[in-house]
Amino acid sequence: MSLRYDGLVVVVTGAGAGLGRAYAEFFASRGAKVVVNDLGSSLQGKGISVKAADAVVGQIITNGGIAVANYDSVENGKSIIDTAISNFGRIDILINNAGILRDVSFKNMNDDDWDSVQAVHMRGVYKTTQAAWSYFRQQKFGRIILTSSAAGLYGNFGQCNYSAAKSGMVGLGETLAKEGVKYNILTNIIAPVAAIRMTATVMPPDLLHQLTPDWVVPIVAVLVHPDTNFENGSVIEAGAGHVSKIRWERSAGALLRSDETLTPGAVLAKWTDVNDFSNAEYPNTTADLVGLLKRSQSLPPNDP
Ligand code: NAD
Repeated sequence: MSLRYDGLVVVVTGAGAGLGRAYAEFFASRGAKVVVNDLGSSLQGKGISVKAADAVVGQIITNGGIAVANYDSVENGKSIIDTAISNFGRIDILINNAGILRDVSFKNMNDDDWDSVQAVHMRGVYKTTQAAWSYFRQQKFGRIILTSSAAGLYGNFGQCNYSAAKSGMVGLGETLAKEGVKYNILTNIIAPVAAIRMTATVMPPDLLHQLTPDWVVPIVAVLVHPDTNFENGSVIEAGAGHVSKIRWERSAGALLRSDETLTPGAVLAKWTDVNDFSNAEYPNTTADLVGLLKRSQSLPPNDP
């Protein structure tokens, strides 16, 4: 089955290198019109250059595809979406991919390293996605990818700014999935692994050559295709030929009556239950807790 994207307009942020470049070239090769956004900054988000985006657009056109460049920061997301509208008249698929790293331990973190990473990842995704949202709602179709990371899901030494931002992609994506579904706007979150300049600082060199962005592209391609509407609000780990889904697991836990007998000692006595995942649930809405709260009121007093 060869999935195609003819007639669709795809915006890829940070498409001048690495994963973004691979997405842009793929969608153009399968019939989409592509906006190649890239600020052309360093891995740390310093400097700007039109060269990165221009090189990708040049390659796409040489290969017979259709693409235009946009050089704005994702913090100016409206201008990126405007490029899609003014050149192609629509926007169908948004791949939020741009990113920077400012790796430093929490002890040595400074405001600039913290704020720069939040600005590109969190604010950039917010501004770009919000600019696309009204078009998606109006046309009752939209596909959004947010890019998280294993560092955002599990934490990683020396990446507190990055992991906080990447974890934010999950919360944002889950909410967009819930708000967008009735307009056929589907949002999914990927945690990719690929050997490119961003990972060169955090992965062992012998692993790097086994990984290429090309092994992430097909997974994203499935998640955004118009005929694939079976995933929404999913967190997908992707890379090196591996694809899997991540979900929350909640232990059956301890249920204590909420009155004066709910003491620290009563909690401690139940801590084994808190850690017992034998009858776990897999919550995906905030409403899941309400039933438990009602049940706790009918319990006998706790053992102090
Ligand atoms: P990369 O550095 O090769 O590419 C990122 C691109 O984003 C660069 O071309 C850069 O110029 C551009 N960019 C940076 N700031 C920008 C801004 N403000 N506006 C527009 N463009 C900007 O990185 P990559 O490894 O391809 O990473 C792509 C995404 O995947 C990032 O969000 C990254 O955090 C995420 N990610 C990558 C890996 C991995 O293994 N490579 C793992 C987890 C997550």
